Amino acid sequence: MISYKTLGLVNTREMFAKAVKGGYAIPAFNFNNMEQLQAIVMAAVETKSPVILQVSKGARDYANQTLLRYMAEGAVGYAKELGCEKPEIVLHLDHGDSFETCKSCIDMGFSSVMIDGSHLPYEENVALTKKVVEYAHQFDVTVEGELGVLAGVEDEVSSEESHYTKPEEVVDFVTKTGCDSLAISIGTSHGAYKFTPEQCTVDPETGRLLPPPLAFDVLAAIEEQLPGFPIVLHGSSSVPQDDVDTINKYGGKLVAAVGIPEEQLRKASKSAVCKINIDSDSRLAMTAAVRKTLAEKPGEFDPRKYLGPARESMKQLYMHKIINVLGSNDKL
Ligand SMILES: [Zn+2]
Repeated sequence: MISYKTLGLVNTREMFAKAVKGGYAIPAFNFNNMEQLQAIVMAAVETKSPVILQVSKGARDYANQTLLRYMAEGAVGYAKELGCEKPEIVLHLDHGDSFETCKSCIDMGFSSVMIDGSHLPYEENVALTKKVVEYAHQFDVTVEGELGVLAGVEDEVSSEESHYTKPEEVVDFVTKTGCDSLAISIGTSHGAYKFTPEQCTVDPETGRLLPPPLAFDVLAAIEEQLPGFPIVLHGSSSVPQDDVDTINKYGGKLVAAVGIPEEQLRKASKSAVCKINIDSDSRLAMTAAVRKTLAEKPGEFDPRKYLGPARESMKQLYMHKIINVLGSNDKL
């Protein structure tokens, strides 16, 4: 049993309380390699932002859970080396699929876990989430539950249809499970292909696809039921068109990739939404930079020469999100 506290990590409790009160949201960036982690830490330190490092089941399979844990521990040391005296870094399991997965992460030094029982019948979701909370809270690890189903694909998580969270269920769920935060479904979606062209309208000025707006009425109804309770948004990448264009210009083929407009996420950040998950945007920034570099320098074969620009591009993206979308800068 390794406690996250000995690794210099923190849980989400205080962080979320401050974010809800302050009207901003904490960035939850997924990572599975060194360059991505470096970019996240550099961006968080430069903007003085707390940050959640997220690890999905796919990332654990790809990068190895032991390595990821040491990387997160390294992130704390790296942040200090970059001049941040008291970094606030959470190591969080994204979409935990079973009690066993959550337990194994808690035992390995994670400070926060998500148990995603959203695909289960309601009572089973309650029972599973409660079981994880009871285990996690013994070690002061915070737990995110989920109600409602998001559409889209993210690693092993996928669903064709979305079902909005039912505001009339949230109080019962939070009370029965004791979870510390709640992921909800109000129209965000996993991945870079969040919406079909049929679901979108065309912007008359740019000719680009505009997604259906988020269900802010559902969010408001949930907030009314659970005043001040930390709410989480998954599937909140914006799929920057510049990166999609760069990828396609240099041999890629991303057709009809559409994300959530940043002004909608900015609006959500000011509400009880205190954690916003961003994964696809960093994948796009990285891929765009790698494709561009390799296309412009065909003789290059030193990975540092294309992963370096990719890292810089991700860092710029993370800083932009922190400052211009989530508002979590200058909070350390
Ligand atoms: Zn998710």
